[in-house]
Amino acid sequence: MTDDNKNKEEASYEIREYHTRSSGIFLKVKNFLHKSKSQYQEIEVIENEYFGKALLLDGLIQTTEKDEYFYHEMLAHPALITHPFPQNILVIGGGDGGLLKEVLPYSIKYACLVEIDREVIEVSQKYFPWLKPCLRDQRTELIFSDGREFIEKTTKKFDIVFIDSSDPVGPSANLHESDFYEKIKKCLSPGGIVVAQVGSPFYKAESIYEKNDFLMKLFKMVCFYVSPVPTYPGGYWCFVFLSDEIKPFDIKRNPPKELKYFNLHIHRAAFSLPNFLRDKLESQDLLD
Ligand code: SAM
Repeated sequence: MTDDNKNKEEASYEIREYHTRSSGIFLKVKNFLHKSKSQYQEIEVIENEYFGKALLLDGLIQTTEKDEYFYHEMLAHPALITHPFPQNILVIGGGDGGLLKEVLPYSIKYACLVEIDREVIEVSQKYFPWLKPCLRDQRTELIFSDGREFIEKTTKKFDIVFIDSSDPVGPSANLHESDFYEKIKKCLSPGGIVVAQVGSPFYKAESIYEKNDFLMKLFKMVCFYVSPVPTYPGGYWCFVFLSDEIKPFDIKRNPPKELKYFNLHIHRAAFSLPNFLRDKLESQDLLD
């Protein structure tokens, strides 16, 4: 086989995620482990030599064994170390269980995971070893529902709400809108915190600015922070910390010791934004 043919043959065993029309990320597939179409989305699990198992929804990488800790630790720990007494936790989305695994080591009372797609949970339980112990934990309740419908109906109050949604297309679209955040605020206990992933600062800065505008009308503290996530678009991700009472630098406790990325230095550094974001996010001055 010529080198050219060999490259073509290898290329047919790749998954490609386009971030623009002319660029993106590819993962060579060592094993195709799962492919199905649920009521909501296409679900795939592949194995890559370097990144291990990877979950894709509608062709977009959600998590990989090798780099999941960047995203899940950065979503979970900033709120969990700053809330004075985090007891009741709500996770919206997050069916791969990566966030729940970061939440449960804290001495919380109750963690409620609201995932729209039962099949994501079933597939993730099979391929991602961290999920089963989280679901077996007595403190976990799993609810299959649209996050927005759940929020509209629940009478429970939560100390921290995490929005671990997919991108604002498909079933997640309604989790990125202003009125969803308004409704979430109603189910927060006093002094509660909301943390959400808000996308790629490099490719989707405009949508972060739009969120900033409506969030500033809803919360006193609107603090964006960033982290590397190697397999996400741009390798660089943005999150937001929202509260009426808690400031992100009022640290109440240490994070668990065995984390791979997050520590108190990273926590402080993550809220320092590059100029191209900071200049547009006047909310960030709240941190000064
Ligand atoms: N870390 C990821 C990312 O940004 O690529 C998101 C991970 S997680 C797998 C996203 C989850 O949100 C999926 O399992 C999806 O089924 C779930 N989801 C999407 N829309 C939802 C909705 N409206 N309510 C509840 N869960 C939803």
